[in-house]
Amino acid sequence: MSQTPLNEFRKDPISGDWVLFAAGRSKRPGGEGKDNVVLSGGQEVKACPFDDPVAMGQEIVKEYNNANGEKWVTVIKNKYPAVTPGACGPQIQIGPFSAAAANGFHEVVITNNHERTFPDFDLEETRLVLQAFQERYQEISKYECGDYIQIFNNTGKDAGASIAHPHSQILSTPIVPPLVARSLNGAAGYFLKHQQTAHKSLLDWEIEQGKRVIFKNEHFVAYCPFVSHKPYEIKILPRQQNAKFETSSAEELTGCAEALNFSLRQLNKVFNHKLAFNFFIHTAPVKEENLFPFPSDTFYHWHIEIVPHLSILAGFDFSTGIIVNVIDPDQAAEELRTA
Ligand SMILES: [Zn+2]
Repeated sequence: MSQTPLNEFRKDPISGDWVLFAAGRSKRPGGEGKDNVVLSGGQEVKACPFDDPVAMGQEIVKEYNNANGEKWVTVIKNKYPAVTPGACGPQIQIGPFSAAAANGFHEVVITNNHERTFPDFDLEETRLVLQAFQERYQEISKYECGDYIQIFNNTGKDAGASIAHPHSQILSTPIVPPLVARSLNGAAGYFLKHQQTAHKSLLDWEIEQGKRVIFKNEHFVAYCPFVSHKPYEIKILPRQQNAKFETSSAEELTGCAEALNFSLRQLNKVFNHKLAFNFFIHTAPVKEENLFPFPSDTFYHWHIEIVPHLSILAGFDFSTGIIVNVIDPDQAAEELRTA
């Protein structure tokens, strides 16, 4: 008798945390299930499933060619989705717990070179990936189910990449993730108190101080935050207020690509091309009715965060939520600027 693997969001009623159970993903290459223990390397899969996605039977969503007419980006449906398309129902109660069916979209954005990761891309290659992110975001946000759309990249096994071939992921969720909701609520509170967006205040201060800024152009600033959670963490923030990644202009996306490209190249230089990292986009929720006192466009800036994997959380961090960071962000920025 076959049983459908558990695929559900469950909420902890005390902490408010949500956990996504995606038991079907334990069968994927590099998955954590015990069937996969032989794949302890995680990336030693013989035939790369992303070198020729069509031949490997992947379901193609969209392809993008570079200026020379060569295929550069292929968007596919994730073969082992953490969320699955379907009608979104209301949250349900299971005993004392809230739960929600794990319905949504899970797509993979593959770049057409097995060896070259984001820090190796040129500006146009980076820009084209951002364009693919934005167009898929716009498309997925049309569907009824999906309060939030998360775009993220895992580079390196230590950062959670289960397949070595460079790729990013887009995943929509039927809830607004707590971390996102917390930041938006914090930003709304700051705006109420100061009549200015928190991001604008932070940006003005960072630009005035200068020492943590690693790159800036007309549209974006990349810097190591004063309150960096991790060593060499970088934030890339638009200078013009805009809560929604999906509405950024083509010119702004090019400015963003420039900042992202520079930041990742410099990180790679500082760490001699051996760094595992994640980067992700934080943007306003697709659906935000009744979530905040006023529309997110008045108080929030979408942005990119780059988080290198240089430290692991330990007992104190886990137990208190206070992260221990052993690198001064002033020093990190100095190294990243001059590498
Ligand atoms: Zn490959």
